[in-house]
Amino acid sequence: MKKAVFFDIDDTILDTSTFAKSARKSAIRMMVDNGLPISFDEAYSLLKEIIGQKGSNYDKHFDVLTKTVLGEKNSMLIALGMITYHNVKFALLRPFPKTMDILIYLKSKGYRLAVISNGLTIKQWEKLVRLNLHNFFDKVITSEEVGFEKPNKYIFDEALKRMGCGAENSIMIGNRLDTDCMGAINAGMSSILVNSNISPEKIQKIKDDNLDIKIINNISELDKLL
Ligand SMILES: [Mg+2]
Repeated sequence: MKKAVFFDIDDTILDTSTFAKSARKSAIRMMVDNGLPISFDEAYSLLKEIIGQKGSNYDKHFDVLTKTVLGEKNSMLIALGMITYHNVKFALLRPFPKTMDILIYLKSKGYRLAVISNGLTIKQWEKLVRLNLHNFFDKVITSEEVGFEKPNKYIFDEALKRMGCGAENSIMIGNRLDTDCMGAINAGMSSILVNSNISPEKIQKIKDDNLDIKIINNISELDKLL
């Protein structure tokens, strides 16, 4: 049976957290400069609070922000915030170094590639398309489609089924030990952790429990393992 490599997207293939933070800060700066009557720091904290409550995939963070500050929505400020957020995000959007080289390498080795992501299907495909990486991936399996989020075993089982792969021939690569790696391990796959600040205690625990989780700095090092 052909081997499959499953990737997480956010903070694994691209530096989502960093560019989202820059884009949010630019949006807030623009809104404050154009009349939102609180300081930058207050507005940014409030936005983070709203994102914490509503989740990052909610699409009306700036509506809630203006309503909270002004008592009613301000469409001009919302538009300014949204446009600035999107412009900055798209300007910064790029994969981690050597991502395309590694995907070409994995294809040349005969691996089939797919994504398993907690997120919205179109939004995750959009990231791959904008990065021009979409042709590498046979499938994108999302929690939105499957109805379960990583680390739930069901999303991994469903991904394996859709790819026609056995768990024993499949590897999950992600930046979260709890969701990406442990979820994959519980589904019978092996796993590689990237871009993490994993503690020495947790590394020891992986060894003690004899878990099939390898740790590398980032995906540019995957050619050492696969
Ligand atoms: Mg991630």
